[in-house]
Amino acid sequence: MKAIMQQRVSIHQNQVWKEMMNAQKFSMKKMYLAIHERSQSVAWRTLFYGNVARPRAIVNLWLACNERLATRDRLHKYGLIDTTRCCFCNADETQQHLLFNCNETRGIWRKILEWMQVDHYPFGWCQEVKWIMQQTKGKGGRAKILKLAFTESVYEIWRYRNDVTFDNATHNKHTVEKIIDTIVYRGWTNRNLRTHLAKLLM
Ligand SMILES: [Zn+2]
Repeated sequence: MKAIMQQRVSIHQNQVWKEMMNAQKFSMKKMYLAIHERSQSVAWRTLFYGNVARPRAIVNLWLACNERLATRDRLHKYGLIDTTRCCFCNADETQQHLLFNCNETRGIWRKILEWMQVDHYPFGWCQEVKWIMQQTKGKGGRAKILKLAFTESVYEIWRYRNDVTFDNATHNKHTVEKIIDTIVYRGWTNRNLRTHLAKLLM
């Protein structure tokens, strides 16, 4: 009931609905497309269904999907820092660059993909989110592991970036190993994923 009421409010605020109320004829098709378009913008929501990653990694992914990670281009825009330079290279640190157009972070994600025996060359954030949504459509073990791996990789890469940015070199080694360990550890508790993981570990 709550969901229906919420929909009602959002439909009443919809521009197409308002136009339709003043028009001669009500078009269900137009209305459907207008609502559908809106929900398309949060299509990444599916990444959170059945995601067995650590809660903090899930929160981090949610921030990334909402484009709310405090990357340097954003901090610079608000006048909080002087430079937008990536901590790994000379490019501007945007989310698109950091995940995973930067050679350093792309290398990490590539190694994780290789370990999962997935043949894919990563690009920037926008393309990567689309790709991962495509790949994780099913409910099978492969899709679940990919979702888990993507979530944990984004999280560990963000932590790695923070360690380098704030000069704390103690955590920044072995990022790939850390991600793989977490995938195995989190995945192992799920019986359906165990067989898939066992194959990857052989
Ligand atoms: Zn870079």
